[in-house]
Amino acid sequence: MREYSAMRIFNTMSRKTEILKVLEAGVVRIYCCGPTVYESPHIGNMRTYVWQDILRRTLELNGYKVIHVRNITDVGHLKSDADTGEDKLQESANRRHSTAWDIAKIYTEEFFDYSKMLNILDPSFSPKATDHIDEMLDLIKKLEDNGYTYAIHNDGVYYDTSRFHDYGKLTGMNFAQLNKYLIGGARVKLSREKRNITDFALWKFSPKNEKRDMEWNSDYGVGFPGWHIECSAMSMKYLGETIDIHCGGVDHIYIHHPNEIAQSEGATGKKFADYWMHGEFILVENKKMSKSKGNFYTVEDILKKGFGWREIRYLLFSAHYRSQLNFTIRGLESAKASINRMHDVMGRLKDINGTDDKTELKKLHALVNSHKNEFVRWMNNDIMVTEALRVVFDLISIINKQIEDGRIGRIGSRATIDAILFFDSVLGLNLAELMNEDSIPREVLELLEKRDIARAKKDFALADSIRDMILDRYGFIVEDSKNGQRLKKKRL
Ligand SMILES: [Zn+2]
Repeated sequence: MREYSAMRIFNTMSRKTEILKVLEAGVVRIYCCGPTVYESPHIGNMRTYVWQDILRRTLELNGYKVIHVRNITDVGHLKSDADTGEDKLQESANRRHSTAWDIAKIYTEEFFDYSKMLNILDPSFSPKATDHIDEMLDLIKKLEDNGYTYAIHNDGVYYDTSRFHDYGKLTGMNFAQLNKYLIGGARVKLSREKRNITDFALWKFSPKNEKRDMEWNSDYGVGFPGWHIECSAMSMKYLGETIDIHCGGVDHIYIHHPNEIAQSEGATGKKFADYWMHGEFILVENKKMSKSKGNFYTVEDILKKGFGWREIRYLLFSAHYRSQLNFTIRGLESAKASINRMHDVMGRLKDINGTDDKTELKKLHALVNSHKNEFVRWMNNDIMVTEALRVVFDLISIINKQIEDGRIGRIGSRATIDAILFFDSVLGLNLAELMNEDSIPREVLELLEKRDIARAKKDFALADSIRDMILDRYGFIVEDSKNGQRLKKKRL
């Protein structure tokens, strides 16, 4: 384990920032509620998985081994939180004249493609709900044995939330308060047969005289699992009965996560998760994202506007995960400028080959180390990315000035590049790849030499035409500086 300050994270359960204490030394077990794969992921979905990726990378930077589960919900997520309405997968299949199985396959693959593109690390396990029906039925059986379930004719097997002590503790309300709150809101309607508004389906029966694409036999009847039981079953299977951190969006605080707790703890009698982390929503151009407002963006929509994955990732992680993020085109442009600043300084440092002055080098090491420590200090403080980025750019400003003053030699420049790559091990912009793309072909080096000669002879017309040729043919921008010519790979 590296000796950094302890990690602190905000725990929704206690509503406090707490020092992370793990169950097993050096290991963190995390469960993140994964996507429901019925349509293309929008940028709000991807923000969730990006901040969770930053969390994971920060834990790994601290030396933890992270066992990370992010499930795929490919059945059972209904259109309404009241356990009514069509299954989102089935509804999408009907609309597209396809099957729920095909829809699941298409959008699962697409989700993984976008995750990879945004450089989100693959979880240790990505279980699909449809592969874990037996585990879910076993869990429902346990809940039945423990007296938590009741059946509603022609509907399903339900969880009686009034029987679970502290139901809804995650919301900061007691059972009666939460029931009153939900009755007052529009999200959940009390059906006549449900005993409490907070009760939820563990197993839904297939509709009479209708064959669903996805349905399974069980002791309760032919049907399919409720969305909530999926997470409890898969978390337990891959991470054990108690885990360290459970993550999700703020929309899970009032229904999905209290239900996961009630199921898991109702079955095992043990605490389900020590820490609950919830990420905020995004706004697009200051408005709630919605299809009707025309500001609903998938990742592909943004790529089509000419932005790259790095800009999208940068913008998504640049606000604190517990704040709303305003996703704007201006924000993407400024993300691009920030990435260019990192890329540029790395290029300048790479070009340095001079000898290091001993005193300067000592000072540089101290400067770089203090910035690295400061960066980690912010990241370890509930993932304060915005402040950590300020540390990165503070170092870059100082370094740029020192390069101009000729104070950095080869050893110092390599140490600084390492520091930027150290920041990037958490930010995940893959700057090393960006730097390697800059490797210069021999032909370009020869042209540069010719251009040098032309400039020395003051043949600026020739120098300009060589510069244009290097850009058009090889994609490198030539910049003239005090130290001579410098190349920069043109970014698309
Ligand atoms: Zn979940």
